[in-house]
Amino acid sequence: MSSDDTYLNLVNGGFTGKVAKQFGLPQPAPLRRFAPGQPLLDGPVLVLGDDELADLLATDWALDVHRRPTPDLRYSAVVLGLTDLIHPSALSAPVMELAGVLKKLARGGRVVTVSRAASPEDAPSVAAARQGVDGFVRSIAKELRGGATANGLVLAADVPVTAPSVVGALRFFLSTRSAFVDGQLLAIDSSAGSLPSDWERPLEGRVAVVTGAARGIGESIAETLARDGAVVVAVDVPAAGEQLVAVANRVRGTALQLDVTAPDAGARLLEHTLQRHGRIDIVVHNAGITRDKLLANMTPEKWDAVLAVNIASQLAINEALLTSGDFTDAPRIVSLASTSGIAGNRGQANYAASKGGVIGMVRATAPLLAAFGGTANAVAPGFIETEMTARIPVVMRQVARRLNSLQQGGQPVDVAETVAFLASPAAGGIVGRVLRVCGQNLVGQ
Ligand code: NAD
Repeated sequence: MSSDDTYLNLVNGGFTGKVAKQFGLPQPAPLRRFAPGQPLLDGPVLVLGDDELADLLATDWALDVHRRPTPDLRYSAVVLGLTDLIHPSALSAPVMELAGVLKKLARGGRVVTVSRAASPEDAPSVAAARQGVDGFVRSIAKELRGGATANGLVLAADVPVTAPSVVGALRFFLSTRSAFVDGQLLAIDSSAGSLPSDWERPLEGRVAVVTGAARGIGESIAETLARDGAVVVAVDVPAAGEQLVAVANRVRGTALQLDVTAPDAGARLLEHTLQRHGRIDIVVHNAGITRDKLLANMTPEKWDAVLAVNIASQLAINEALLTSGDFTDAPRIVSLASTSGIAGNRGQANYAASKGGVIGMVRATAPLLAAFGGTANAVAPGFIETEMTARIPVVMRQVARRLNSLQQGGQPVDVAETVAFLASPAAGGIVGRVLRVCGQNLVGQ
């Protein structure tokens, strides 16, 4: 479904745009999305502080890399290598260099930091410096305009900047694939994973199952995984059969009509995928429902239905996958959480319990897959323009979609791009994490 964000269109119109500016109204900028063949960056990139990163960008990706800020140059991106930080005072020099070029950052520009995780074993000054990057990134993400974003990679102690997941995540954050990911710090836990031979087809040879694929975010995930080279099994309830077949045909995959809460859902999903495609590498748990009620008015039916679809089904299907012996070649589980599961949401106690559950589940499932080079991670969307959010009353909807740094709702494809990245071979070092796709929603961490 495309955006019905009339307000965004109005403030980007000539006359109406001027009026909105005069009255100090929010001025969301149209975001540029990925299309195959698009260059990684359109203009020069300033790389501060890390020679290895600068070499990677200049040599492997053939970008126009600058090591010193040139006044008046319009940079497409600034990468801050901060892995050597050992005292907060050392932040000053690179940060001031960044400050000097920010006003000239291109529309849709990118700021990406690469730093190390703070740990209780660090000396206090080291931990302070490292944790300081967190607050810094979240703040500049709130200051950037014109659809520009700021995100950070936070490397575990023994992970080099050349590790596949650092390289893959840096590329993701620099590209238009991450258009609606803003103000996020993504942990890179290990050097596991591998780089694709073709960055445009990182999922070539992989077979992916997507639940809830008949419409909305699931439909977009099916399309995006197929575009990236995967063979897709599209799963949805029998009632959505016609739409499901249309999606499966469009992505040249197969359709499986299945209620994910059925006791034999895991077995049927495995049987279909192995029989039709010979292997199973990626499972995206996207099927989800809402049954909103204040807890005082909650019925057991509404509570149980949400928990059954949104989390219990995922646990049962994962159990079937893990015990099958067929999910062992660097497998990937990507689950849909929600910012509601992080921050809580009035009227959504059941939904938030299920989505918080997803976050706990991936954290505990990831170690079970580690022996096969596998991962489990979650994506937490904020406000995304789908049939689910179209049901929100109009005034509330207008407010909800402005409550983030990009001042607009995301598109299903924004979630899909993030799922595709976490499902890719390069993301093998990202383990049990949650990546938010929320335009830096004001709620939650
Ligand atoms: P949607 O309602 O448009 O689509 C959900 C799909 O899941 C539907 O096709 C539905 O038939 C299917 N489904 C529901 N129950 C099922 C079952 N038992 N078995 C198989 N399929 C089932 O929802 P959406 O907005 O595309 O959301 C997709 C996921 O993203 C959900 O998990 C949702 O909680 C999550 N999410 C959405 C938003 C948002 O803003 N739209 C925000 C945060 C999280």
